[in-house]
Amino acid sequence: MFCTNCGKEISGGQYCEHCGAPNAISNEKMQSRPTAAPAYKPMKNPGVAALLAALPGFFGIAGLGHIYVEQLGKGIAILIGYLFIGSIMMADFLATGGGPVTLLLIFPSIAIFIWQIYDAHKAAVAFNGR
Ligand SMILES: [Zn+2]
Repeated sequence: MFCTNCGKEISGGQYCEHCGAPNAISNEKMQSRPTAAPAYKPMKNPGVAALLAALPGFFGIAGLGHIYVEQLGKGIAILIGYLFIGSIMMADFLATGGGPVTLLLIFPSIAIFIWQIYDAHKAAVAFNGR
């Protein structure tokens, strides 16, 4: 290693032992060293969000994917809405064995089910991109 000021060979300290000029290479190394650890940023796995939306959704519990990505209000709204539609369908199914009410509600319930998986996945990606 050579001094950038006088050109003489130096040992690699912070200053040149011949002319006293600051050692540019050594100082550069010091500055590039990270001064603090990067701030901790929690991440949400989009796959986990989708899975939490999908699996319990089969058993009438939707919105868990949203709760996972910290969209608590939306998750609870989906959960209540899904349970509400599900309980009407169940009641109708038990009363009529699958009448027009069941048939009418099965499509919106499937649509909500698929949408909340998609939306939970999207919300996890957006969460990580903050
Ligand atoms: Zn020097």
